[in-house]
Amino acid sequence: MSKQYDSNNIFAKILRGEIPNKTVLETDHALAFYDIHPQAPVHVLLIPKGPYVDFGHFVAEASPEEQLGFNAALAQLVATLDLPTGFRVIGNAGPDSNQEVPHFHLHLLGGRNLGPLLP
Ligand code: IMP
Repeated sequence: MSKQYDSNNIFAKILRGEIPNKTVLETDHALAFYDIHPQAPVHVLLIPKGPYVDFGHFVAEASPEEQLGFNAALAQLVATLDLPTGFRVIGNAGPDSNQEVPHFHLHLLGGRNLGPLLP
């Protein structure tokens, strides 16, 4: 069953230019911008431009071109941020993850030792 996408979510507003963001990278299929409440010296969010609620929704309904474009943007983002000592990519999905914003996104964190995955 198709998921219901709320076009009033904050990332949809960012994509429409209604809310400012600190853009790191923009491609045809994805936007990366700094998280407003950083959990590490580098904390960037990567979102697809299409209306997908979470990872499952994205892989089920995004076109192959969108999916490849999103993966390419992630690779480009990693190269752009230049984090030679490492980084972490996290994606929340659904209530158990406490996902706050219902537009699929990945968190890319780095710039310090991040410790265990779940402290
Ligand atoms: P989630 O819990 O995986 O949904 O993460 C949502 C993230 O979006 C959190 O880390 C928030 O700090 C971040 N966030 C919320 N609003 C904004 C914004 O307007 N700009 C940038 N990041 C935001």
